[in-house]
Amino acid sequence: MALRFYNTLSQQVEEFLPAHDNTVRMYTCGPTVYDFAHIGNFRSFTFIDILRRVLRSHGFRLDHVMNITDVDDKIIRNAVAQHKSLEDYTDAYTRAFLDDCKTLRLERPERLTPATSHIQDMVEAIEKLTAGHHTYTSDGSVYFRIATFPGYGKLSHNDFSGNLAGARVDVDEYEKADARDFALWKAPKEGEPAWQTAIGPGRPGWHIECSVMAIKYLGETLDIHAGGIDLVFPHHENEIAQSESLTGKPFSRFWMHAEFLMVEGQKMSKSLGNYYTLRDLLDRGYQPEAIRYLLSSVPYRKQLNFTFDGLQSAATAIGRLRNFKLRLETDKYADGSGAGMSARTEKAAHDFVEAMDNDLNTAEALAAAFEYVRDANSAMDSGEFRAGDAAAALDFLGRFDAVFDVIEPTTATNAISDSEIESLIEERQAAKKAKNFARADQIRQQLLDQGIILEDTKSGVRWKRK
Ligand code: AMP
Ligand code: ZN
Repeated sequence: MALRFYNTLSQQVEEFLPAHDNTVRMYTCGPTVYDFAHIGNFRSFTFIDILRRVLRSHGFRLDHVMNITDVDDKIIRNAVAQHKSLEDYTDAYTRAFLDDCKTLRLERPERLTPATSHIQDMVEAIEKLTAGHHTYTSDGSVYFRIATFPGYGKLSHNDFSGNLAGARVDVDEYEKADARDFALWKAPKEGEPAWQTAIGPGRPGWHIECSVMAIKYLGETLDIHAGGIDLVFPHHENEIAQSESLTGKPFSRFWMHAEFLMVEGQKMSKSLGNYYTLRDLLDRGYQPEAIRYLLSSVPYRKQLNFTFDGLQSAATAIGRLRNFKLRLETDKYADGSGAGMSARTEKAAHDFVEAMDNDLNTAEALAAAFEYVRDANSAMDSGEFRAGDAAAALDFLGRFDAVFDVIEPTTATNAISDSEIESLIEERQAAKKAKNFARADQIRQQLLDQGIILEDTKSGVRWKRK
């Protein structure tokens, strides 16, 4: 069977093939780097990673762009409050995000694009929208006039007829879901950073960055655009309005959205305070693989309820896979092949692929894998499993792990978390202050041994991973 995805645009499960040659042109909305990402955010990014891996398992090449939103209201508010430049403020959280992605084994997109490196491209797009009569200016800000785009609402399937008059909002916060016309360009407020541009001083709105960077790097029509479910409206709806007004072409063929990670019936979110960062969970001793497993174990279109019991079960499930692999690699079996064993392995591999191809049904794929592990384990116990069966079983585990990537344990070097590093740095500072230079040097060496380089600067200690 072919690869099928649910398309938010058509509200149907459709067969997926890239439009041109063998390359999937994909854009996914990245993080807003105003703080550490929480594991709700990482549910969406883990979904993207699984999607990437399944696409590659079909032999497609990937051209995947993800933005880093490094200018927005929250970032400006926090940077100003901490007397930091935007760049210094966002650099730290961008680095933390990329470290967390690495810890969770999320593949890096082919291209990461910070919004602030594309201001000129955004200004040009806004000028083009203005030339096409899609905008108006008010108090130095430029707004997109939704009444000029009749297709508005086609992604979220909201009916906006009769409700398009020029209400406008000044912020990009998600909860302003009733925003109609939206800001393409925001005039600077007192004390806020601004870019001096041909359309006046200010900064871009959130939506325009994604349209501009997607079209710049991937062309006018993408194969897939994806993100969390809360991005459908207004963010993606607004991206469509801008992009299609710019090009006259459909912006993306497929739209895919991941449902929320929930905590006791509510969306995990910063504003509700019911969140854990990856670092919180690592500090509590959970393995990154267990977190990755948990985040990918429920099909992406279903809500996933986060519990510590769930995390514990994920760790147990991984243990079962590791034991099975160890058994395959180290147990001694009688020569030859067991009756029907190769057909059973083939069936498991087939069921696994079929489940993933069916709109990334990770729950069924895992069920196929664990049913096989149970069956093969008892075949090993009864002597039915023979030496000649091991290669195919290992091959299946390899295919499984090319997608789920949980079997290999994280080594100690990778495991040192940012907070552990920061606390060692603090201890080193204290040692230096107390003139205990031997201890300070020892800490520097200890961190270096784990691939962490310290740099003493005027504004304090900086660190980076080798
Ligand atoms: P942000 O950094 O706020 O721009 O969000 C990054 C990504 O995380 C977006 O794709 C959001 O849709 C997604 N997201 C935020 N909260 C959750 C959640 N509780 N569960 C799943 N995805 C989420
Ligand atoms: Zn976006």
